[in-house]
Amino acid sequence: MTTSKGTMMVKADGKASEQESAGTVNQRTLKTSINCSGVALHSGSKVSMTLFPADADTGIVFKRTDIAGHGAEIPARWDHVVDTRMCTTLGNKDGVTIGTVEHLMAALSGCGIDNARIELNGPEVPIMDGSAQPFVFLVDCAGVVEQDAPRRVIRILKPVSLDDGSARLTPGTHLSLDFEIDFDNDMVSKQSLSIGVVNGSFAKELARARTFGFLHEVEALRNAGLAKGGSLDNAIVVSGDSVLNEGGLRYDDEFVRHKVLDAIGDLYLSGAPIIGNFQGVCSGHAANNALLHALFADPDAWEYDVLHGDEVLSAIDGGIFPELAEIA
Ligand SMILES: [Zn+2]
Repeated sequence: MTTSKGTMMVKADGKASEQESAGTVNQRTLKTSINCSGVALHSGSKVSMTLFPADADTGIVFKRTDIAGHGAEIPARWDHVVDTRMCTTLGNKDGVTIGTVEHLMAALSGCGIDNARIELNGPEVPIMDGSAQPFVFLVDCAGVVEQDAPRRVIRILKPVSLDDGSARLTPGTHLSLDFEIDFDNDMVSKQSLSIGVVNGSFAKELARARTFGFLHEVEALRNAGLAKGGSLDNAIVVSGDSVLNEGGLRYDDEFVRHKVLDAIGDLYLSGAPIIGNFQGVCSGHAANNALLHALFADPDAWEYDVLHGDEVLSAIDGGIFPELAEIA
């Protein structure tokens, strides 16, 4: 189902969306639940994960099914981040944690999923292939439905930056990211990327970029009892000026693309899509979370809003599954 203005989504009741005439974009969730299982990067254990649809205004909520009681539920929000050293880990006051949420969060952000419940039977989101692509595939398989509530976004109103200059948010018309990395390594070295998360760019340009590490670090992590599930199946491993993975890189600049992917996932812990520009210089999970703390500490720097005007069209056309329009 298409119109001259772009893709229309099909609502849960099967009726075509009226979001264009209503002048805004509505919230979206999954059409059905969907399960996957995989290895946890750090513990090395096998984890089963199910993504469920959720009501409007739920946001993204994680639940540990291997722990009894209400204490097992953790909202995917910046103020529940308890560790950013190896990955982004969420936790609650009972000490229940869920690690490595960033690639899944990036996929949910890139797929325009506002509401979902994520159940896991272990302490980490499975690492899959080290990218967000397997999670995009899950969302694609489950399908996406529009809900009867406008999407709430966080509009950046003035620049917010960290004192060390490693991360910054400024106003913009859609989510865009500028990222620079500079590693003392011939293979990774200096890379930069500027990209807007519109018109399916997440699925095409970012989702497949894998996490990476250096061989000497991998050995140190293993000796420390970490990265037990890590392998060439779920990370790029760099040794000197070469990549150990058979098949090489998926993008020439896969390293910086993965850092952008990480930033998108970490920023989605704001609890809503951010409308603004992110700039990162050699930053990581800690800086991304510190930036959200700085943002929410300044009430003049942001506001809740809905999408309007040209933003509506770019959000509709920016749906990651343009082929859905044809199927519908
Ligand atoms: Zn990552």
